[in-house]
Amino acid sequence: RVTPKPFKVNYSTATEQAEHLKGNAEKREFQAETRMLLDIVARSLYSDKEVFIRELISNASDALEKFRYLSVSGVENSTKLVEVDRPLEIRLTTDKQNRTITFQDSGIGMTKDELTQNLGTIARSGSKSFIEEIKKQGAEQANSIIGQFGVGFYSAFMVAEKIEVFTRSSHADSVGYKWASDGSGMYEIQEAEGLPVGTKIVVHLKTDCREFSDDDTVKSIIKKYSNFIGSPIFLNNEQV
Ligand code: ADP
Ligand code: MG
Repeated sequence: RVTPKPFKVNYSTATEQAEHLKGNAEKREFQAETRMLLDIVARSLYSDKEVFIRELISNASDALEKFRYLSVSGVENSTKLVEVDRPLEIRLTTDKQNRTITFQDSGIGMTKDELTQNLGTIARSGSKSFIEEIKKQGAEQANSIIGQFGVGFYSAFMVAEKIEVFTRSSHADSVGYKWASDGSGMYEIQEAEGLPVGTKIVVHLKTDCREFSDDDTVKSIIKKYSNFIGSPIFLNNEQV
């Protein structure tokens, strides 16, 4: 049995991590319906923008639950999983100077195909219903419709001018990837070395959304929404 390497949370900024990028970034187009959704979300005047924090924490929590399930269920032979002894937790960091908020989890992570599938299409039910309602009711109704259906990961584009996702799947032999998009038609995928298992999402905030890089503001939002999260949540290294 191979001894798992200790899990280290990597707090380096996106710029530092760029040193580990390999080869060229592949540019890809979002699926047409995703483009439509992103367009509406990015221009939305929906007032509860803070819900993106709830959505990204809930995705991190889901990813940790999926990993826990795999590691205990025997569905997946545990020798096919790496770093099985790492702490399973969610870590947020805020950086006012660089206007970022970062979500890191040590969950199941994503392979390249999963990245493309999960963050490039709207197979999931909430986004699908959102688009169906927009088609019925018209884009003017977007604000109330976002509130009804929630748009998961894509909600972060209400506040972001750019999002970077660094992820490595917990399956043995998986390499890491960086996914990046400014929410317009395209995203980029590039191999990234030196990533811990799990997912780190760096949200580069629009100038008028800088409040989400403020420690106290974010702390109160986490407290409001994250009562039912089954994994420990840290904000700037302090447990919330
Ligand atoms: P939902 O959570 O309803 O499935 P989202 O838009 O919130 O929809 O997320 C889309 C998908 O992206 C998730 O189903 C999951 O497969 C993947 N995903 C998002 N965040 C993470 C994460 N932190 N770790 C692993 N996978 C993730
Ligand atoms: Mg979600």
